[in-house]
Amino acid sequence: MDPEEFRRHGHAAVDWIADYWRDLDSRAVRSSSQPGDTRRSLPSAPPRQGEPYQRIFEDFERLIMPGMTHWGHPGWFAYFPSNASPPAVLADMLVAGLGAQCMSWITSPAATELEQVVLVWLRDMLGIPEEFTGSIQDTASSATLLAFLTARERAGVPADQLTAYWSEEAHSSVAKAARLAGIADEHCRVIPTDDRYAMDAELLATILEADVRQGLVPGIVVATMGTTSSTACDPLRPIGEHARRRGAWYHIDAAYGGTAAILPEVRPLLDGLDLADSYVTNPHKWLMTSFDCSTYFVRDVPMLMRTFAANPEYLRTSHDPDVVNYRDWGIPLGRRFRALKLWFVLRSYGVEGLQAMIRSHLAMAQELAGWVDAAPEWERLAPVPLGLVCCRHVPPELQGDEAGLATHNAALLERVNATGRVFLTHTMLGDRYAIRVAIGAFRTEQRHVEEAWALLDGMKS
Ligand code: PLP
Repeated sequence: MDPEEFRRHGHAAVDWIADYWRDLDSRAVRSSSQPGDTRRSLPSAPPRQGEPYQRIFEDFERLIMPGMTHWGHPGWFAYFPSNASPPAVLADMLVAGLGAQCMSWITSPAATELEQVVLVWLRDMLGIPEEFTGSIQDTASSATLLAFLTARERAGVPADQLTAYWSEEAHSSVAKAARLAGIADEHCRVIPTDDRYAMDAELLATILEADVRQGLVPGIVVATMGTTSSTACDPLRPIGEHARRRGAWYHIDAAYGGTAAILPEVRPLLDGLDLADSYVTNPHKWLMTSFDCSTYFVRDVPMLMRTFAANPEYLRTSHDPDVVNYRDWGIPLGRRFRALKLWFVLRSYGVEGLQAMIRSHLAMAQELAGWVDAAPEWERLAPVPLGLVCCRHVPPELQGDEAGLATHNAALLERVNATGRVFLTHTMLGDRYAIRVAIGAFRTEQRHVEEAWALLDGMKS
């Protein structure tokens, strides 16, 4: 493809994306593709000779698009949001065009230094204490793994002597990180939660004490601000105090909820963040920055580098003593230039624009919670501190029958999703099946939330 052909196809691709965004509301949110449909539609071997771009693009529309689910749809209420805003997409396009690989300062000084600057901006915007230094990782799962590996390094004892603590509502990435860090299953303590699904900090203290008495070494405590199932917020301050008293690394997972701290009224949920050793929050969820962009903040950068730095001769440069080489701050050597899209986003919307968007989502979630609370036969299953409402329909004949309620609500969820107008997902809160309505897609307006509620209530029987 020569540069002029690229220009022509590039303009057409941008037009295609703009039309896609304009017409998103008329598409079904969730793909109706069945397992194997896409695979069967594709040839089993690559072409021997190159094909014309036009034909490839037609196949993209014909074969690939039917198998795509639309995270940017205004009817997106599934999982958590992942917002690919126009400025982020433009930045990603430029990065792709530059073919930037930003493992070291020398491989693109501007990429490293922009990352340093935007993470100070973000730290200050989100009320993160200034002793923390950030870097961009791909996902919160990776960031949590970094926390476990750094905790193990700092503890300085074999992994099989370390214990780790998190709540029964923590994200699955935490247990995965423990396994990858070599912490024995029998040393992983899953702490029960209270009736708001937040970690019971007093139980944590008791369990920590029992472990220390047995000669075990508390390695890491993970708390969550905004759990995946219900957005519960663990009491960060007492948890942090207990972790510190026992010498454990303290990691806070705010993958979803942390970016809402751009609002001063949300900050109290992060009280205790000053006690953390590490903290992760994902602009690629709620902060308009296309996937992937997870920001990981640590207090002790030398400890992070002691864990991850490798300095082979072929990567050394004369600038090394004076610059940051982000390859030493995580697992992969190669790094995408993610700071550019975050910079485009922060400048395009400004702090106030981002605040207004998140505040509107919080307000819509409160409103939906009110409708659920007021509706006969509906039950709200958890507090709503952020943008998620967990609820279920409880017909009188199924009162007290958890298995029956689960079947009934799963069928309701499927009927609602089959309309194509919205996409909702579910979870279990204890033994209770919950329909999750996560409000946070940037195209979602009040009328879309009203529609989701009308579908749920209207299709309940
Ligand atoms: N932690 C929490 C609380 C989450 O809700 C999620 C995903 O929803 C994750 C971690 C994992 O995020 P990522 O996909 O960035 O690894």
